Amino acid sequence: KGTAMVTAVASRLAAQRFQVNQTLALLKLSPDALGEVQALLRREMELGLKKETQTTSSVRMLPTYICATPDGSERGDFLALDLGGTNFRVLLVQVGAREQGGVRIVSELYSIPPQVAQGPGSQLFDHIVECIADFQTKQGMMGQTLPLGFTFSFPCQQTSLDQGILLSWTKGFNASGCVGQDVVKLLREAVKRKNHFALDVVAIVNDTVGTMMSCGYDDPSCEVGLIVGTGTNACYMEELRNVGTLAGGEGRMCVNMEWGAFGDNGCLDAFFTPFDRQVDEASLNPGRQRFEKLISGMYLGEIVRYILLELTAKGLLFRGRPSPKLQTRDIFQTKFLSSIESDGLALRQVCAILEQLGLHVTCEDSVLVREVCQVVARRAAQLCGAGVAAVAEKIRENRGLEQLSVTVGVDGTLYKLHPHFAQEVQGTVQRLAPRCSITFLQSEDGSGKGAALIAAVACRVA
Ligand code: ADP
Repeated sequence: KGTAMVTAVASRLAAQRFQVNQTLALLKLSPDALGEVQALLRREMELGLKKETQTTSSVRMLPTYICATPDGSERGDFLALDLGGTNFRVLLVQVGAREQGGVRIVSELYSIPPQVAQGPGSQLFDHIVECIADFQTKQGMMGQTLPLGFTFSFPCQQTSLDQGILLSWTKGFNASGCVGQDVVKLLREAVKRKNHFALDVVAIVNDTVGTMMSCGYDDPSCEVGLIVGTGTNACYMEELRNVGTLAGGEGRMCVNMEWGAFGDNGCLDAFFTPFDRQVDEASLNPGRQRFEKLISGMYLGEIVRYILLELTAKGLLFRGRPSPKLQTRDIFQTKFLSSIESDGLALRQVCAILEQLGLHVTCEDSVLVREVCQVVARRAAQLCGAGVAAVAEKIRENRGLEQLSVTVGVDGTLYKLHPHFAQEVQGTVQRLAPRCSITFLQSEDGSGKGAALIAAVACRVA
């Protein structure tokens, strides 16, 4: 009789394992599948660069009017703004000779309340100007008008360094009256509305470009910028002759890929799981930024939450009891993925994290939750790696090289703080682009320092 019971328990466990595997299999990408993602992105890049096919591509491949990486001779004091994620920052960046300490940064964080991020645009820009004024007062620099680089991490169609038409909001932003407008003009108008205040905006900068430039200051072979934070995006130095959307010419220009939107034309549909669709449908921008929604910090926790709900519904988790807590949007934050996967974190601590979320967990539950977190984060990192591989291969082929050495400047909390993300990205790139030798360099204060360096170059040229 005892044997029969043991057999029954074993076969129940095996059946459960089978169901778990079935659910998670959807999120595990084979090397072939990753190669396919790489090839698809490469094709979208080509389409996005050509004038005739531009509108069929899901990646915008936007010109940035940045034609050179820094050469170290940049000097001066600059203001920089960083808008595009969780926080808004104002920075004073002093670029000096390397021997005198190089770049010095003083910065202040300001929050953008959701009602401002999603309210009238004029209110958003008034708020930004108030923050700058507050910063200048605190720094005792009221009345000074330093050249300003504006890191604005949303897709913009640029026609020059200091003009950018907002194409769409992404991440948590949705302020009205801004799409289709020149963001620099909106900022200048807000400045005019405030008495006795002036700014000298010389450049609008995507955060990927700022990151590439800031790493480029230390490493001249940095020709790719990558962000994996709230959202994800990349830029790289493309040959001007390939940028069909411009008149052409010699040399190179940095192209902001806006790769978060990769797949918005349906080309990645085969890779989306039901969980990805749920995340997309519940988002502020359904149908858009589909690649980003597989990868970045704003979404990974939500993907995990939907999987946990499904596993609970199937009776495989939390004794099959639906937890009202788990129904709450954003309750499972991406930072939990990092803590739960931390090396050396005992299962008891995983339990404690889950208990903090109001979940009553058994030991088996925490093992399974950890597995879900691993699968979701690994897929994100591998997809990101497939993207970088596509970019690196394009650069290598552009230059007719057998072997390419290139540095990727990276920023973003998910990339920097997740215990395995960076390693998984790098491993994937190595497998998918064996003819490229790629160094990943984490940027310090990338968007701020980068924007200032761009402002510096602009002033030097002007
Ligand atoms: P942004 O991209 O907005 O400039 P960050 O790079 O700081 O800002 O990224 C913020 C994102 O990072 C948030 O979506 C958050 O979920 C995620 N995040 C915060 N802490 C961690 C962590 N410890 N591990 C992984 N992701 C994190």
